[in-house]
Amino acid sequence: MDFLQPTTWSEALAMRAEHPDALAIQGGTDVMVDLNFDRRRPGALLDLGRVAELREWAGDDGRIRLGAGVTYARVIAELGAQLPGLAMASRTVGSPQIRMRGTVGGNLGSASPAGDAHPPLLAADAVVEVESAARGTREIAAVDFYTGVKRNALEPDELITAVLIAPAAGPQQFSKVGTRNAMVIAVSAFACALHPDRGAVGTGIGSAAPTPIRAVEAETFLAGELASAGLWDSRGELPEALATSFGERVAAAASPIDDVRGSAAYRRHSLSVMARRAVTWAWNDFRKAA
Ligand SMILES: Cc1cc2nc3c(=O)[nH]c(=O)nc-3n(C[C@H](O)[C@H](O)[C@H](O)COP(=O)(O)OP(=O)(O)OC[C@H]3O[C@@H](n4cnc5c(N)ncnc54)[C@H](O)[C@@H]3O)c2cc1C
Repeated sequence: MDFLQPTTWSEALAMRAEHPDALAIQGGTDVMVDLNFDRRRPGALLDLGRVAELREWAGDDGRIRLGAGVTYARVIAELGAQLPGLAMASRTVGSPQIRMRGTVGGNLGSASPAGDAHPPLLAADAVVEVESAARGTREIAAVDFYTGVKRNALEPDELITAVLIAPAAGPQQFSKVGTRNAMVIAVSAFACALHPDRGAVGTGIGSAAPTPIRAVEAETFLAGELASAGLWDSRGELPEALATSFGERVAAAASPIDDVRGSAAYRRHSLSVMARRAVTWAWNDFRKAA
């Protein structure tokens, strides 16, 4: 197996184009497991660890541009205020060691339906920036990025450059159920984001469909009910029945399976509970911020 080690982004893109069979590796927390278990045997590894550009984040253009190589540990330490949903999800990833190596770009590369970064990225309307040497840069909405179980919209000659996310305009929440409290793959996960600036609600569901998904009907329903009751302006209490109905609609959006980690019925039920609780926590934060 060849080992390719670019030191600049343009070199990385050129190597990607020349070696379509090369497997990109960033933190290696997914790739090394796959190699060790012989699930993948690529012709070459394309190590992105020396490409400094990927490890940068910046807040230009009204959006945070989070380099694909920024680790969970740094999201937690540096971006908790701007990207609270992603930071909450990052705190639940693996162990401190995994959070020091693992990256949001790697989570997107693996595109597992259980990846913890996906629900908050969906709830925040994030956009994935990808690039190839031949065609330059393109932006893909997170909602269009996940194309199947562990499949994404990347072309063979493309690499993920960054994720573009608007800094939170309102409270965000993330909730995850696992078979134990830490170091666990989600049985189900849910993220929500309130966007009071435009009277909208964002959602993201993990581990309960072939890909991470949004609960679009639940989003529209809740935003509409909040608007017609004048709650965005009054910041009145969130009616319990509304939160419950939102939870049921989130659960209805899922298409979970039975597997070793949980049954489809449990996944649906846990989603309805998490969504009801998460939106209530977020709404209470919104009221307190007045
Ligand atoms: C013990 C353990 C616990 C874990 N716990 C969790 C957890 O709780 N939650 C969770 O979501 N995940 C968990 N994971 C999985 C893993 O840590 C995450 O998916 C992490 O985000 C992967 O990031 P990485 O940088 O290590 O990716 P890598 O392993 O380097 O790469 C992952 C995939 O992304 C591709 N890739 C990486 N960078 C790019 C790029 N710039 N462009 C294109 N493709 C790219 C690679 O080719 C590969 O297919 C765990 C893993 C382990 C080993």
